[in-house]
Amino acid sequence: MKPSCAALAVSALLAAAIPALAAPVSAASAASAAAAAEAKAVVSELVACGTRHSLSSWTDPKRGIGCGRDVAVKRFGEVATKSGGRLKVIVDKYETSGPRTGNAKVPMENVYAVLEGTDPLRKQTAFIVSGHLDSRASDVMDAKSDAPGADDDGSGVAASILSAEALASRPAGFRATLVFAAVAGEEQGLLGARRLKEWLGQQGYQVGGMITDDIVGATNGAKDRRPRVFSEGGPDGVDSPGREMARRLEELVGRERVRLVFRRDRFGRGGDHLPFVEAGLPAVRFTEPLEVYDHQHQDVREEKGIQYGDLIRFMDFPFLAEVAALNQAILAELAAAPAPPKSAVLGGAVTPAAKIAIDAETDPERKGFEILQRETTETRWKVLRTVDQPGQVVLDDTSTDNEFFAVRSVGKDGHKSLAVPCVPAPARPAGSAPAKPPGR
Ligand SMILES: [Zn+2]
Repeated sequence: MKPSCAALAVSALLAAAIPALAAPVSAASAASAAAAAEAKAVVSELVACGTRHSLSSWTDPKRGIGCGRDVAVKRFGEVATKSGGRLKVIVDKYETSGPRTGNAKVPMENVYAVLEGTDPLRKQTAFIVSGHLDSRASDVMDAKSDAPGADDDGSGVAASILSAEALASRPAGFRATLVFAAVAGEEQGLLGARRLKEWLGQQGYQVGGMITDDIVGATNGAKDRRPRVFSEGGPDGVDSPGREMARRLEELVGRERVRLVFRRDRFGRGGDHLPFVEAGLPAVRFTEPLEVYDHQHQDVREEKGIQYGDLIRFMDFPFLAEVAALNQAILAELAAAPAPPKSAVLGGAVTPAAKIAIDAETDPERKGFEILQRETTETRWKVLRTVDQPGQVVLDDTSTDNEFFAVRSVGKDGHKSLAVPCVPAPARPAGSAPAKPPGR
């Protein structure tokens, strides 16, 4: 017999009345409680450095950004030891300048923890998660005042460290390389992220995908507790690679865990994903659901009963652990998947069939491809069909005009790459050799 609504309501009431007794602690919730506790410990250590302004001391172990760097090196180092040396910690020292350094060259340092890919075919592709080490007070050039930077961006550094710990502990590793970063100079003009991008190029890595976690540590009473994931758009029918990364994340974890925002960043603002976005690379920004500006970029002070400053007491560490878990989900998926197709060219205009030409490198771990489709007014892809091989696919009785199409690679173990939008073949001047379609 089916339980009646009344019986269900009574049992729901009972469950609500005695949650602690009714719900045994699952392994998953114990793990997330441990992650929240670790996030709090990391952020507390960073806040204890007083300020982490990029122009503060790099050598004082007690106060300044050098103290913050030491926290990141120590935490990543502990993960590296546990990984049996598979994770490698690198301190990247460089000189940089920008308007907010008075255009003078200043020394800065980034910290990277690198988990090299296991597959020679894929290990030159890197997936990156980054938070910024530096913090600031009200005056962006004030390197002396306290700037605790618990949320902005101790939270992002903690998410990067937690992700390293979770993913480096997986014994099988990942086909592609994972880079967990804590960078400097964000508040002075994304200087550390620009250096990170340059460093990846110098090491010979292609960027397969990049996440910046910036202000991911508080919920501030928001009813909708999902983190926002920002991704920029693109021209007609060809959304940016970052948009495809955001879509893949949502498909993977569910709409109830992420809130996609189809903008490159919050209105009029920016972050460390932008040097990657501007280079046409897949990059997204994670940020908490509801920001409180009294806690950002403010000297620590009390005025008219209002507490200003980026303090640890405003944080929500279970939420921060959830952001780290979402980072891990998308990084693990993409680093295990085959490469996206090199290109997907759409043809068949003014004919009754759409034709898609898929170009892809040989990969013995790839099972095939999924052709994706969406109405031009829809935001999410649907799988239209699967094919085993690259080459031309003809979609009979399908207009090229009314829908958008994309193609992604599927691994033998089910992992899926980012989608590559189907674009027209590039026009070529009369008499020239056929041009290469836009690759990725
Ligand atoms: Zn920030």
